[in-house]
Amino acid sequence: MKIKVAVGYARRSSKSNPKSSIPNQILMIEEYCKKNNICLKEIYIDDCKSGRRIKGRDQYLLLKEHIKAEEEINMVVVAFADRLGREAFEFIRTVEEIRKSRLELICIYEGISSESVSPMQLVMLAIQAEFENNQRMQRVQNSKEQLLRQGIYSVGGTPPFGYQLTKERRLMPIEEEAEVVKWVFEKYSKGLFVSEILFELKSWSKIKNWTRSNIEKILLSKTYTGFIFKKIDGKKGLYEQLSFTPHPPIITNELFDDCVKLMVGKQSRSFKINFYFLSCGLLRCSACKASVKPYMNKYYHCPNCSWKIIRTFIEDRILEFLLEEEGGQADKHFENNKHIISNKNKLEVLFASGKLNSDEFDEAYLHLQQDDTNNKIKMRYTPLIKNKNLEHLKQVLMNDKVSFILNDSGSIEYYKERT
Ligand SMILES: [Zn+2]
Repeated sequence: MKIKVAVGYARRSSKSNPKSSIPNQILMIEEYCKKNNICLKEIYIDDCKSGRRIKGRDQYLLLKEHIKAEEEINMVVVAFADRLGREAFEFIRTVEEIRKSRLELICIYEGISSESVSPMQLVMLAIQAEFENNQRMQRVQNSKEQLLRQGIYSVGGTPPFGYQLTKERRLMPIEEEAEVVKWVFEKYSKGLFVSEILFELKSWSKIKNWTRSNIEKILLSKTYTGFIFKKIDGKKGLYEQLSFTPHPPIITNELFDDCVKLMVGKQSRSFKINFYFLSCGLLRCSACKASVKPYMNKYYHCPNCSWKIIRTFIEDRILEFLLEEEGGQADKHFENNKHIISNKNKLEVLFASGKLNSDEFDEAYLHLQQDDTNNKIKMRYTPLIKNKNLEHLKQVLMNDKVSFILNDSGSIEYYKERT
């Protein structure tokens, strides 16, 4: 008897049970081939999340090429039929492709061989599998909603920062994190920018490496008010209440609503100042680049042309711009520091293993320290903005000889005069 030659195919999907894990699929395919005296050429593995689309199944495409190119292959082996496609049409399509190549298809778990089952039966099997799959998903969905209504966190994934799950999957605040959440909301409600909150938080919180989006995520989560909410459009303040059994809140409804209002822009969060800190050449006209002047207590305007802009709007933009610029430098500095520390560790290892003598070590170490001082950046503007000391800020900016311009895309940039 001629020995049959096979290629295997395995695929992972996101919520598969351990039974259908990739190592297990490989094991099943290998054992099957061994038992049936089949020569297994290769196993193609797609580690993509869902089998719903052919797209992203690169290895499957390779498998197809392989069976086209190598004539001696007689069969394709999979552990589970649904690995070839979750939906019936996809499964059928795949099976058809394999049949067209005159290959035998084996689905080990279901005990299907395309030679012993008619095409019609295969289709019925596929539809049956899809039907069961859909029903299972529906059941899961229904029970999930029920659990959520009772305050049981069944949405999957980790709970919002500040909460942990009890054994019963109920939300329970983590004291240290909850303090941070509360602090973030309070600062935002007082009119601080996200970039300012980020800057301050980085200086005292050791819980995690904070980013802007972490803070935005906190500010958009209504679940902190004591019920589980789903965000529909947080920036418009639209939420859907999912749970009706409360969990311990971290912030009050009022505080959350205040912050939403700020975010939606119903309230202005401008700095209350009585002087135009962008006059005297700090702000340039977007149209003709001339330096602008205060106008009617509410605007900056260009004496050359008709260009004008609302004062609070442009001032807020420029303060945000400065904070972001310096914040970005701080991040870079932090990265640089990590680099220096790792180099220092390397030097110590070289010294300890005798590859550097003490003089060489000292010299290299001195070098590193110099790098460090060169990279130290000074926060020039941020402290002044934080203390709302705009008079001083204006002085510093003027000494630095910088000016700003609102570009065509609506963002701020430094204005450079042509010399
Ligand atoms: Zn102008």
